[in-house]
Amino acid sequence: MLATAIEEKNAYDVALENFDLAADALGLDDGLRAIIKYPERVLAVNVPVRLDSGKIVRFEGYRVQHNTARGPAKGGIRYHPNVTVEEVKALATWMTWKCAVVNIPFGGGKGGVTCNPKAMSLGELERMSRRYASAILPLIGPEKDIPAPDVYTTPQVMAWIMDTYSMNVGYPVHGVVTGKPISLGGSLGRNEATGRGVFYTALSSAQHLKIPVKDARVVVQGFGNAGSIAANLLHQAGARVIAVSDTRGAIRNANGLDIPAVISFKERTGSVAGFPESERIGPAELLALNCEILIPAALENAITAENASAVRARIVAEAANGPVTPDADRILDQKGVFLIPDILCNAGGVTVSYFEWVQDENHLFWDEQDVNRQLEKVMTRAFSDVLKLYLERKCNMRLAANMLGVSRVAEAVRVRGLYP
Ligand code: NAD
Repeated sequence: MLATAIEEKNAYDVALENFDLAADALGLDDGLRAIIKYPERVLAVNVPVRLDSGKIVRFEGYRVQHNTARGPAKGGIRYHPNVTVEEVKALATWMTWKCAVVNIPFGGGKGGVTCNPKAMSLGELERMSRRYASAILPLIGPEKDIPAPDVYTTPQVMAWIMDTYSMNVGYPVHGVVTGKPISLGGSLGRNEATGRGVFYTALSSAQHLKIPVKDARVVVQGFGNAGSIAANLLHQAGARVIAVSDTRGAIRNANGLDIPAVISFKERTGSVAGFPESERIGPAELLALNCEILIPAALENAITAENASAVRARIVAEAANGPVTPDADRILDQKGVFLIPDILCNAGGVTVSYFEWVQDENHLFWDEQDVNRQLEKVMTRAFSDVLKLYLERKCNMRLAANMLGVSRVAEAVRVRGLYP
């Protein structure tokens, strides 16, 4: 189970280890490392909530700003029972490099509340979201730190946060969060953006490796927002999505699943498990299937030293943040697997969040084709920037992406003269 794997490796240790590898490769001096390696701010907040039963329970919440040298902090808010301050620090760190890799003018931030949203009513979620928003209010704002959705947070949650912030300042502030409902200044294409970005980078990788997309076998772990949208776009492009999974189970059809039908089945039943034209398989078996593209799109540490040698994919596209541990990286590398690292692969979400913020700040909205066209431009350019470094330095794609992100942040620190 993923939950056990998470206990085995702290995501923040992974983030620091990957930073050190990039900093070493860049020959970064100790002073710069001290400035950009660690979070600028870490806020822990108490979130008391009245449940529907009348009982008051407390949740713990966090907001971390890792680095703002290139612009305001940007990053999602996660509601999950496994949220820890270390995990939020790791996710904030990755956001810094991610925004730099796609070259958008944001720094890295992240937030989270340790809770089980699946066991909460809509009213309880609203009260918790508003209380959490009030608690992190001193840190957030359109010029300072702009939250967005992450695991188990939705456009509705963003609307409550926008409203809480706006009530406090006394006027509507659309640009304080992204991933909002369209009726409230959200951007067309934002909901699909992460999956669409995964799709563009998967296409670029297949092209680089000369793998035809038509009939390419695709496996997706985590059929949520990012995973299901990437799966659907690949299905539309002619690939065969042969297996998908969620927390309740994994399913397989060697001839290719009818992805739009799996999406409607999941909407109706809450899971992919039990989809008629499929056989049920185990979660470990899914990751070991012979395929061209494997997309881990659930949570951290899905592919570890224990199961990496079983992976039989040509391309691993990290839709999730941190799904492959550094030990597993080395194993995949030795096996010749081409990895699209998370800070590149799933950067479509933050890219369209940036477009949403630009539209909110300008009070002028784009149509969906414009959003998708701009997204494709940003993602394919970022992919070729990383690929260039990968080919020049003869390193792996993770190191190339981290080097690109870290070097752009280091450059901003240097140019601004942010030395103490
Ligand atoms: P989501 O909640 O919509 O989907 C997550 C899916 O993973 C759910 O279907 C869940 O059932 C499944 N899952 C969880 N644990 C699993 C397990 N052990 N095995 C199989 N399936 C499992 O979340 P999302 O927004 O799609 O995010 C997924 C990942 O993508 C996260 O790591 C998130 O940080 C990353 N990400 C998301 C966005 C975005 O805009 N949504 C942007 C960047 C990165």
